[in-house]
Amino acid sequence: MYDLVCVDCHARFDQTDIIYTCPRCGHLLTVEYDLASIEPPGAVWQQRPLSVWRYRELLPVEVPPVTLREGGTPLYHLETIGEELGIRSLYAKHEGMNPSGSFKDRGMTVGVSMALQLGRRIVACASTGNTSASLAMYAAKAKIPAVVLLPAGKVAVGKVAQALMHGARVISIRGNFDQALAMVHELCLTHGLYLLNSVNPFRLEGQKTIGFEAIDQLSRVPDRFVLPVGNAGNISAVYKGLIELKTLGMVDSLPMMTGIQAAGSAPVVRAIQEGLPAVVPEKNPETVATAIRIGAPVNAEKALTAIRATGGTATAVSDDEILAMQRALARKEGIGVEPASAASVAGVKRLIEEGAIDRDECIVCVVTGHLLKDPDTVIRQCEPPTEIDADIASLVSALGL
Ligand SMILES: *Cc1c(COP(=O)(O)O)cnc(C)c1O
Ligand SMILES: [Zn+2]
Repeated sequence: MYDLVCVDCHARFDQTDIIYTCPRCGHLLTVEYDLASIEPPGAVWQQRPLSVWRYRELLPVEVPPVTLREGGTPLYHLETIGEELGIRSLYAKHEGMNPSGSFKDRGMTVGVSMALQLGRRIVACASTGNTSASLAMYAAKAKIPAVVLLPAGKVAVGKVAQALMHGARVISIRGNFDQALAMVHELCLTHGLYLLNSVNPFRLEGQKTIGFEAIDQLSRVPDRFVLPVGNAGNISAVYKGLIELKTLGMVDSLPMMTGIQAAGSAPVVRAIQEGLPAVVPEKNPETVATAIRIGAPVNAEKALTAIRATGGTATAVSDDEILAMQRALARKEGIGVEPASAASVAGVKRLIEEGAIDRDECIVCVVTGHLLKDPDTVIRQCEPPTEIDADIASLVSALGL
């Protein structure tokens, strides 16, 4: 049982209302459970496989879920990069290991299940790529149509390939992500499609399980969670989940929530660093990390709360820092991620070098999407393969043996 509650005016809305923002004041909605009526389910959870659905007592879904076995992603100890930075307890939660290759699957298994629960039969989103790939996949599993709007020419090829192959109706907008989102939001309100961007509070319910899993894997609450921030849904989701665990008495501390953005697309960082009450949108965000190329983050007000309430911080990293960390994760740790994902670890490096965080902390970086999502950016950074004649002498000579 849950209510939808406005984060600003605290108005409560019924389970059957299909709304994405507060009809009274326009602010974001959040899913609120009657936690007093829930027995702390820790022992039950430990008996289930590590996945989004291990935590179903804290999810709103009552119908059989639309699932492709999302979650249960590995938590890797970053031994080499950690050692270089002088941090013993540095971890990466590899969300690229989800079914479609990004954490969006955690939100979509819950979001598409909720579409069915609420009786909606067409789903839609705007996307910098991964949301569309994930929605296309879960809509296919649910046997319902999906409509996805992409900013033309700005989506990594692997993500477009997924959206197309899984059978979504893919529309390219001659505009940026923020414009695509405004259009699909209006379309959903006027034509009854079900909106599955992260303004939809149920998406965040699935995504909060990243935090639950990391705590279960570490058997402790880390001192700090570090996430790349685009629309700021994920950082808000992880924080919300941890508040619920604390309210249930299952953890007694909260990690410092830390958001990393690309320098060319950093409205949340600016708001944190300048102490602004709200973000000032950026008109022309630009970064190689297309998944976080977002100028007007939808969940900014939730993210600012998450960062401020936990004594966290936010910082921006350059595209060069992002790409250097993408290579370091690939070559020193064997972890293949897309550029936006590398931003979290690049952000830790920067914060350590600035003396803004402590080397004794236990730090979990969320690396959000798989390397193969954006092969063009990978190829551009690497030497091409050495082409030789098909004989052993050429091979030995090419290898310099
Ligand atoms: C969606 C996405 C992000 C940004 O997450 P938000 O919830 O929008 O802040 C970061 N990295 C990848 C790979 C993503 O797909
Ligand atoms: Zn309100």
